[in-house]
Amino acid sequence: MAAPDLIIRGQRVVLPDAIAPRSIHIREERIVFVGDYTDVVTGCEVIDAADDSVVMPGLVDTHVHINAPGRTEWEGFRSATLAAAAGGVTTLVDMPLNSIPPTTTLANFETKLATARNDCFVDVGFWGGVVPGNTAELARMFAAGVVGFKCFLVPSGVDEFQHVTEADLREAMPELTRLGALLIVHAELPESILNNGSDGDYQSFLNSRPRAAENDAIELMIRLSREFNTRVHIVHLSSAEALPQLRAAQAAGVKITAETCPHYLHFTAETVPDGATEFKCCPPIREETNREQLWDGLRDGTIDFIVSDHSPCPGEMKLRESGDFMKAWGGIASLQLRLPIVWTEARHRGFSLEDVTRWLCTNPARQVSFAPQKGAIAVGSDADLVIWSPDQQFTVAASTLHHRHKITPYEGELLNGVVEKTFLRGKKIYDTGHLTADPSGHMLLKSK
Ligand SMILES: [Zn+2]
Repeated sequence: MAAPDLIIRGQRVVLPDAIAPRSIHIREERIVFVGDYTDVVTGCEVIDAADDSVVMPGLVDTHVHINAPGRTEWEGFRSATLAAAAGGVTTLVDMPLNSIPPTTTLANFETKLATARNDCFVDVGFWGGVVPGNTAELARMFAAGVVGFKCFLVPSGVDEFQHVTEADLREAMPELTRLGALLIVHAELPESILNNGSDGDYQSFLNSRPRAAENDAIELMIRLSREFNTRVHIVHLSSAEALPQLRAAQAAGVKITAETCPHYLHFTAETVPDGATEFKCCPPIREETNREQLWDGLRDGTIDFIVSDHSPCPGEMKLRESGDFMKAWGGIASLQLRLPIVWTEARHRGFSLEDVTRWLCTNPARQVSFAPQKGAIAVGSDADLVIWSPDQQFTVAASTLHHRHKITPYEGELLNGVVEKTFLRGKKIYDTGHLTADPSGHMLLKSK
């Protein structure tokens, strides 16, 4: 066997089936051998993780809004992927909306790729969009490498990405089934969203986007997935009331999965301060009982994984001065913080590092068919690794976040888990507060 270029080793390496002392041998960007801790090669550089640090697969985040081109002042590839690197994320998948143009045609996808290329610190994949009337574009985008397609069942918040009705889905879903493409769905139904106008306080906002809006949308998607045999995935599940119907559908063989987000697992509606519009997202953060039921959904596997739904905007769009939740832009940017937020909450509830690895790395990589190249420490996989300290605590300071607009509901939160070093295909890209490489992220095109 050819000699490795680099060996990374630690006492707590998270493997697909164990946590153990191991040495990871890397050659030409890939893991070529996983040996005992003492298994090193004379003359080869060795990076040693501290005894209490964890070596984990680089995180995979399949739900990130980067907004470029067109709304680059909200977020861009450089700033977002820098935040990713600092958060131990080595692969992310960009959402098809909030950029102008949105990724809803092949030509628009090519524009997106031209914008992203050579400007990413981590590897990046892309979702396409299903909007009314673009069925003919789906096969072309899929052939060009999008990992699947997103649709909205309610207005998306931006005019250039229209939401779909059941009639639109009846046109698009047979085509998605024919392609074998995954449909991911923002599942809230407009009929159940109440525009009671009223005060802009958190309770009014929460009341305006009730659980029923999600539950009914998910019911519709289960029915359509069953009818058309299309793979469907519910993004950012907030209503735990929808878990029984998802559970039953999965048990009956319907191809439907779900994800949730750190903010639904960490915050509760009861503790959102008055006027604190940085907590606004759609669907909303719900009550404590709901939060605990979401954790139950992760425990029994009804919810497959956790993604950030990183969705920043310029600070002024949060309308912090009026504090009006009904009018403020919705979205929470937590690409850099997903690991410590999830770990902090998970360990309180008795979950293990293996659970966290499954939710943050393995399962999202599988969902977009990037496994086994991504999301696992295994021979043949890309040498994407994060070394982090699970016991070290830190207080979130917005100034340490690398994405473009720093306003965050996590300001001042005490979290467990500090990212020390991030490696992308064997190259160290981040080391304790500093970026250590130029942008060398690949465009991950599914067909290539
Ligand atoms: Zn989103």
